Amino acid sequence: MSRNTSARSGIPLWQKIMAGLVLGVIAGWLLGEHARWLSPIGELFINAIKMLIVPLVFTSLISGIVSMGDPGKMGRIGGKAVALYLLTTAFAISLGLLAATIFQPGTGVEMQMDNSVSPGEAPTLTEILVGLVPTNPISAMVEGNILQIIVFAIALGISLVLIGERGQPAIRVINSVAEALYKLTSLIMACAPVGVFALIAVVAGQYGLSVLIPLIKVIGVVYLACIMHVLVVYSGLLSLLARLNPMRYLTGSLDAIVVAFSSASSAGTLPVSIRCAREKLGISQGVAGFVLPVGATINMDGTALYMGVVALFVAQLTGTDLSMVDYAMIVLTGTLASIGTAGVPGAGLIMLSIVFAQTNLPLEALGLIAGIDRILDMARTAVNVSGDIMVTTLIGKSEREIDLETYNAGPSRT
Ligand code: ASP
Repeated sequence: MSRNTSARSGIPLWQKIMAGLVLGVIAGWLLGEHARWLSPIGELFINAIKMLIVPLVFTSLISGIVSMGDPGKMGRIGGKAVALYLLTTAFAISLGLLAATIFQPGTGVEMQMDNSVSPGEAPTLTEILVGLVPTNPISAMVEGNILQIIVFAIALGISLVLIGERGQPAIRVINSVAEALYKLTSLIMACAPVGVFALIAVVAGQYGLSVLIPLIKVIGVVYLACIMHVLVVYSGLLSLLARLNPMRYLTGSLDAIVVAFSSASSAGTLPVSIRCAREKLGISQGVAGFVLPVGATINMDGTALYMGVVALFVAQLTGTDLSMVDYAMIVLTGTLASIGTAGVPGAGLIMLSIVFAQTNLPLEALGLIAGIDRILDMARTAVNVSGDIMVTTLIGKSEREIDLETYNAGPSRT
């Protein structure tokens, strides 16, 4: 039986990353604005992870499809993924609305509106569908368009399976590049404690209490609802639907959650999520390499939850009465707007304007939130990534694409 201790360094990586997080907050508070000097270190770390996204999504997806060898199975997994992603997102925004109704973060708050946020433009459904197929896969890679890369990789993977023996040389190359990229992810993650320390110190140094205090209630409600969503909804779904120990999911996802929290980018965290899913949760390369990139692009539960809380916060602040139709509209537009939100810092705030426009809430109120948006972004991005990994785990279990021994082994593996 293996024990939960790290044989070589003594301290498991996830504990070092958590220490980086805590020390980063302390250093940020002590250094104040000067913490900005640390920002190149954080940027270096995030750039190194982002460097992996395009080649990793491309090779790990092809490698996964080839190892499954059944295009029908891919279709089934894709269908399950989209259904679960939509369901959990609608649930998240409803939870946000419920939390804001109970805690009333906007009642009794006096604030000046400011007019500096411009409304976002949502693409139409036809535009989204037509845009899925790249006219040039190389430019899709250059632009980092994950959905287009996924479509091309799936098509190429299926074709490689269909040509049988003749596909083997290319498959061997792609498998070997994918393995090297997994290794590189592990090497970069060894620097995560320092990277996370620097990223968090910069944010903590930037936001003094004077900025946070007036909006402390709305921050508290977003954080509380985010924590509840992960601890109750995700853990509940995993134990009820998949009969898996949710603690293992939480500890196994921790690296990705902390990197998401400190970087506020779910797309940027993708290589770390894939690593957690494969190496700590035992999910097969095929499922992790397919379901996670789709999730990082369309599944934004934390963003949807935040939209629910902020919409009600502003309604309370401005004394706007919302009807049941308005609530339904917030759930519907919030879910769609979150799907269209890019996995980069601050994207959710821009997309929130779509929800505001649909429910006649004043767009100027977004300026209020803009001042503290990074703090909210960190929590919602952590939930976005947790949600991607949770759905991937559910699908891994239902498709028997999970190694339960690895899943149950616990967080000692680095
Ligand atoms: N920063 C979030 C993410 O990367 C998106 C958002 O702004 O809500 O997942």
